[in-house]
Amino acid sequence: MIQRLFEAFFQALAFLILASGWYVSTVDVGVLYLACVNVLVPSQLVLYLYLCSGRRTHNVPIYSFPDKASLVEPYQCVNMNGDFAQCDKAGCNGRWKPPRTHHCSSCGVCRLEFDHHCPWIGNCVTLSRQKAFLALLYLTPVAFAVAVLPIVHTLYLQFVLAISVSRADPWTNEIWWDWIGSWILCAGPLGRWPVGAFLGFRILWSMDHGDVPPYPGQSIDQPHLRIIGTCMIAFLLSAFALGMALFSTKLVLQGTTMLESLLKKGSKYPLLICIPVQSNAFNVHDVVPGERIYDLGSAQNWRVFMASQVFPCATLGPYQWPKLNPCMIRRMRAAGRTEVAD
Ligand SMILES: [Zn+2]
Ligand SMILES: [Zn+2]
Repeated sequence: MIQRLFEAFFQALAFLILASGWYVSTVDVGVLYLACVNVLVPSQLVLYLYLCSGRRTHNVPIYSFPDKASLVEPYQCVNMNGDFAQCDKAGCNGRWKPPRTHHCSSCGVCRLEFDHHCPWIGNCVTLSRQKAFLALLYLTPVAFAVAVLPIVHTLYLQFVLAISVSRADPWTNEIWWDWIGSWILCAGPLGRWPVGAFLGFRILWSMDHGDVPPYPGQSIDQPHLRIIGTCMIAFLLSAFALGMALFSTKLVLQGTTMLESLLKKGSKYPLLICIPVQSNAFNVHDVVPGERIYDLGSAQNWRVFMASQVFPCATLGPYQWPKLNPCMIRRMRAAGRTEVAD
């Protein structure tokens, strides 16, 4: 329940940021921004809503246990008998958990090709949605830069003005600049400036501007905390999105998921690969710690990613066994042959 509230808060926050970004860009600033903003922001919104959708249904495995004796290709197993994983969590009732599947405790379902559960979308990110997820992440800083670039100099001048007004005011000096706590209260010495500027904007705002009728772009002409505040939040969000995008791109090139990259070496559950050799005979091999089971080489990983669809078909077809790291399989087959020879 608390988890759901927490996620609902993040979703509401993300929606508010998008909506306020749109409002500031089109209504407050004016026609100049309409073209780029009305392409970028709706694209983000479509991707965002798509990633939020299907919390109960998307990529949930619906397959029954395969017949072990009929398998010829290597697969990830859970024990030395080459058995398949099953999920005993509520709702899954011992159903088959295909390789790379993880039971998300937030969503309460098993997910094929689970990457991570994202509180910003209140949903799991899986490999089938990774392209849409990365598109949203990369689009966020681009949309921010496009929207802010033409007004960044004006905003900088307003920030400088607000600081100088705040510095010259006896009351702000008393409660903030000369107060020892200002050096530590808001994230250390750097935090003195945003709070000082905020107080400066309050003073500017309280000044009499005369009776100017409202016009588009007015809040850029006249110092306005709403614009700078929106830009600051959008900047932080963009920086976070860019960092996340670069990290996710690295994982795509490595052919791994966020969950797999987080599984520590020597974890409680050893990673095992079962290699069928003939009907009802197989060898089970340990994965070397640090070895990536599904890494096909960065070029091939990238090709597979680029060939995937941004909005894949919602229906799941017959189960496709994930391709395994060819170097790892070669090593295991060679080890298997050596064992037989011994
Ligand atoms: Zn499950
Ligand atoms: Zn989830």
